[in-house]
Amino acid sequence: MTEYKCPDCGYIYDEAKGNPHEGFAPNTTWAQIPDDWACPDCAVRDKADFIPLLAQGASATAIEASTDAEPFAKWHCVTCGHIYDEAVGDPATGLPPGTRWSDVPADWYCPDCGATKEDYERLDF
Ligand SMILES: [Zn+2]
Ligand SMILES: [Zn+2]
Repeated sequence: MTEYKCPDCGYIYDEAKGNPHEGFAPNTTWAQIPDDWACPDCAVRDKADFIPLLAQGASATAIEASTDAEPFAKWHCVTCGHIYDEAVGDPATGLPPGTRWSDVPADWYCPDCGATKEDYERLDF
C-alpha cells in the first residue's frame, strides 16, 4: 500500500485507509481513483499533482539486493597444511591478493610441498 501526498496542503491519501467521505473504501488503490478527483482538503490540487510517498524500508531492501560480495575463503593443502587465503593471495607464485580459488590456475602447485590444486580443501565449512 502506498500513500500519496498533496503538495499544497499536505493532505495524505492512504490506499490502505481509502477515504470514505469521498466514497473510496479502504484498500482503494491510487489507480482506481478517478483522474478528475481533486484534493478534498484544499480542492486546488488534482490527482496528477499528488506525490507518492515511498514506504519505509524500501531503500534497505534495494541495498540488500546487491550481494555479489561473497566473503573470501581459505583453502588448505591436505599434504603439508599450507593455507591459501583468497584475501591474501600468494604473490610469490603470481597470485595477487583477492584471487578467488576458482581463478587460481589448474596447474598451480602448493608453494611448500608441490601438491596440486586438487589436494586442497576448503576451510571454515
Ligand atoms: Zn491539498
Ligand atoms: Zn602443500
